Amino acid sequence: MVSRVIPVAPFDLVLFGATGDLARRKIIPGLFHRFAVGQMPADARIIGAARSEMTHDAFLNLIRDSLEEFAPKAAAQPDKIAAFLQTLRYVCLDATGKAGWDDLGQHLRPETVRAFYLSVSPRLFGDIADNLNTQGLATPQARIVVEKPFGHDLASAKALNADLRRVFDEGQIYRIDHYLGKETVQNLMVLRFANALWEPLWNATHIDHVQITVAESLGVEGRGEYYDRSGAMRDMVQNHLMQLLCLTAMEPPSRFKPDAVRDEKLKVIEALDPVPPDNIARGQYRAVKGDGGYRDHAGDPQTRTESFVALKVNISNWRWAGTPFYLRTGKKLRARSSEIAITFRDPPHMIFPKMAGRRGNALIIRLQPDEGITLRTTIKEPGPGGMRLVEAALDLTFAEALGPHAEAQDAYERLVMDVIRGDQTLFMRGDEVEAAWTWVDPMINGWEESRESPAPYDPGSAGPEDALMLLHRDGRRWRDLAP
Ligand code: NAP
Repeated sequence: MVSRVIPVAPFDLVLFGATGDLARRKIIPGLFHRFAVGQMPADARIIGAARSEMTHDAFLNLIRDSLEEFAPKAAAQPDKIAAFLQTLRYVCLDATGKAGWDDLGQHLRPETVRAFYLSVSPRLFGDIADNLNTQGLATPQARIVVEKPFGHDLASAKALNADLRRVFDEGQIYRIDHYLGKETVQNLMVLRFANALWEPLWNATHIDHVQITVAESLGVEGRGEYYDRSGAMRDMVQNHLMQLLCLTAMEPPSRFKPDAVRDEKLKVIEALDPVPPDNIARGQYRAVKGDGGYRDHAGDPQTRTESFVALKVNISNWRWAGTPFYLRTGKKLRARSSEIAITFRDPPHMIFPKMAGRRGNALIIRLQPDEGITLRTTIKEPGPGGMRLVEAALDLTFAEALGPHAEAQDAYERLVMDVIRGDQTLFMRGDEVEAAWTWVDPMINGWEESRESPAPYDPGSAGPEDALMLLHRDGRRWRDLAP
């Protein structure tokens, strides 16, 4: 299998927040990898911008250190690092002020694709957009890239959209959800829409239920105070789990074009039923000997923010009525594991003896660890002794099946190159984000009004008892959180 790298056109990328954590850990290493494989042209320009006073050399040293720390393979490519550093410049400016913007303008070439990547707090989005506008830098071929969180609720998401749209058209705005940059998530669309096998089965007639899990084994630790302002629902469900739900449930788009795909995702969100309190389970991990609980890390012994949430979700449309989607996400759980599990209904009539523990067919799409796809089937247990049935898995672990070509690109690498290519397919559209908040807000308002605390759960468990009951009472159970 030949891996093809198609170079992108020359570009100028302004990285606001270039000295920050996300830029140093993900964006710069991602750009370096694309440069090293020849996708990023040598005459591209990356212009870092932040308030810190820094010489050009000091900025290069910071970037060199970031590559050493966060792009371990870079060390073996000193020539590539040297050439990559040639593409970098640094401008000192305050997003909220007027100084430094002229200097920024000097680095931008008039005819070249330009992208403004806002790796800064969302409260700066409006100021940056306005400054770009007044300085005449927001040209029609410019793109603006923004990071999560995109709002805290519907009202703040609308305000952010308004801030950006004062200056940029929707076709220039790239809202990142890095889950959409993951190889397996894109493969979900290929699996569904490039194979004839699944479509006839992909509906409530054949699918019993769907489970979407994003479980983390780590707690909030040093990010406790930041996380406490959001919680699992805002931090994970409104964006990442919602995107996974949409891609699993959407109708086939008429073509693989940004708005055709995003129209279908939006229709899924609009078809989601409101979720009653009985179908929501919230949790907070507790302290165990010597290990602080969520409340210790959040720095507020009374906090009611959830570190775990599970939902039973119904989609009111022809394809899915009667097939629940169960979503769960949380911190400090038994394993770090993200997957979409599609469980098919049992055969209408079983001609073989009943098999204890038989769990029927399921298609598991694993995002982490070991990206891949597994189809759980039933086979005859080999050997004499009658028709004994056993479960067997048809397993496609990408790393094994595809060898070195399976080496997953980091989601950011893919997404930044899509921005330069001008492809918005894997970015959230403004109406999609607002629809997601419209669905999520009443749940959050409901539990805030009730002032109920989330149920405590043990670190290393599968979450609170209430979450297990969500499925038990329907005669189902969650898949094990296997490490
Ligand atoms: P961070 O480490 O605090 O970095 C913020 C950056 O913004 C710094 O470079 C800072 O540099 C710059 N900055 C702050 N105020 C500024 C101003 N007034 N004008 C110009 N530059 C300013 O934050 P981060 O973790 O990188 O996160 C950046 C954004 O990405 C946030 O919205 C965050 O929610 C989002 N995000 C982060 C992650 C992550 O893993 N870190 C993941 C997903 C999303 P100076 O202080 O020198 O100005």
